[in-house]
Amino acid sequence: MRYISTRNKEISISSSEAIIQGISKDGGLFVPQILPRIEDLEAMENMHYKEIAYTIMKKFFTDFGPAALKTCIDKAYDNKFDTDIIAPVVEVNNSFILELFHGPTFAFKDMALSILPYLLKESTKITSIQKEIVILTATSGDTGKAALEGFANVHGIKIIVFYPENGVSEIQKKQMITQEGENTFVVGIRGNFDDAQNGVKDIFNDREFIELIDKNNYMFSSANSINIGRLIPQIVYYFYSYSMLVKQKKLNKEEKINIVVPTGNFGNILAAYYAKVMGLPVNKLISASNENNILWDFFRTGVYDKRRELILTSSPSMDILISSNLERLLFHLSGGDDKMVASSMAKLSKEGFYKMDNLNFEDFYSNYSTEEEVKERICKVFKEENYLMDPHTAVAVNVYEKYRSETKDNLKTIIASTASPYKFGNTAASAIGIKTGDKDEFRILEELEDKTKIAVPKAIKTLKDKVILHNNNCNKDDMRQIIEEFLKVGVAND
Ligand SMILES: *Cc1c(COP(=O)(O)O)cnc(C)c1O
Repeated sequence: MRYISTRNKEISISSSEAIIQGISKDGGLFVPQILPRIEDLEAMENMHYKEIAYTIMKKFFTDFGPAALKTCIDKAYDNKFDTDIIAPVVEVNNSFILELFHGPTFAFKDMALSILPYLLKESTKITSIQKEIVILTATSGDTGKAALEGFANVHGIKIIVFYPENGVSEIQKKQMITQEGENTFVVGIRGNFDDAQNGVKDIFNDREFIELIDKNNYMFSSANSINIGRLIPQIVYYFYSYSMLVKQKKLNKEEKINIVVPTGNFGNILAAYYAKVMGLPVNKLISASNENNILWDFFRTGVYDKRRELILTSSPSMDILISSNLERLLFHLSGGDDKMVASSMAKLSKEGFYKMDNLNFEDFYSNYSTEEEVKERICKVFKEENYLMDPHTAVAVNVYEKYRSETKDNLKTIIASTASPYKFGNTAASAIGIKTGDKDEFRILEELEDKTKIAVPKAIKTLKDKVILHNNNCNKDDMRQIIEEFLKVGVAND
């Protein structure tokens, strides 16, 4: 299996090279040259999560030896997840909630970031790279902590995380700035997520800076959802949840389903799209946005227009104006038109928008939820079903209700639940009528626990008393400088 750049198909590399590089030198994203078919869905019904992971990943990571790939999977999906089934499905109000938050940081990012460090380590072996890898990551909150957790103390790899200082929840921030591990470095950016993400992208494209890093025997890589080492592992749980439901006789064999995904950078839903192309019987892929509803506009009009204000919402992991992985979808839907993708992305960066004329989006439905609707939905589902959702999941559940009433489509539906309600406790609590006022947030979590009888995860409880280890802030223009300081590679250190 080769991986090609969405902006230049001539660039073609192996999976281990793509995992190390993260992003292509031309600014494009790597996509698998073909999407393999999974012929035998039935065989998956009796497989453990790890076995399905192997079945899928071996088709993509073809330069990994079978034993090495199995070891990566074993190390990733172990007891750092709080359930042996890794991704449980819960039936709520006739739909199936796929809980992707049972990993160490309580958000779906763990599904891929628990394996990426092992894939990356193995990739450096396969390609005989001697340099020390520096993971450079921008986060809207969840990626940062999940990546720190995954990479902390991994020998031969350093990790630097940039988060928007005022764009993440208090719990998310606390999770990151208390991160242990000599090889970790966390920095708050004075700006929003897009500033952080664009800053990181600029650095990846800065030849001069990369040369400086290279001279010092380092090389950059990324843990963002643009890395295929993130994207591919996310395909697994769609096959897994489907097979589990067939096995439990909640779905008939080959029965078509819808999949709803609360969407930000478009990585999770792109993985669902890949699953569909690979043979999972999927009807609609339902993309749910919060008030940053740029994708809703895009799927209706074909115009992607980022010339608008970013709105800070109660679902910060989806407060995004540039959904990077959409570039991959454009590439696939256009039959691999790399020139069109390259010029559209150039136009987006220069003029702030692009227009797609001839693409067929019939696999997708898109809509969004307002802040008001999110709170109402959390409250309603809790009251009627005794199920507590985090705001990201509520965005998705609410959009699904819109879809159902608009289309009258009654096909069974899997809804991706991307975070534990305790990760966004303030919103969850106030939605179900707990007065939050200016109470200490750990106090709020206790009240939430009292009212819902769902235990606060231990790792969140103990955050309260953890020591802050990272106290770094910078302007978005100073990211290079702070990297130089951490790696001790600047001119001043020559
Ligand atoms: C990252 C994240 C999302 C968005 O996923 P994308 O793959 O970026 O679309 C949704 N919810 C939560 C809780 C997240 O952490």
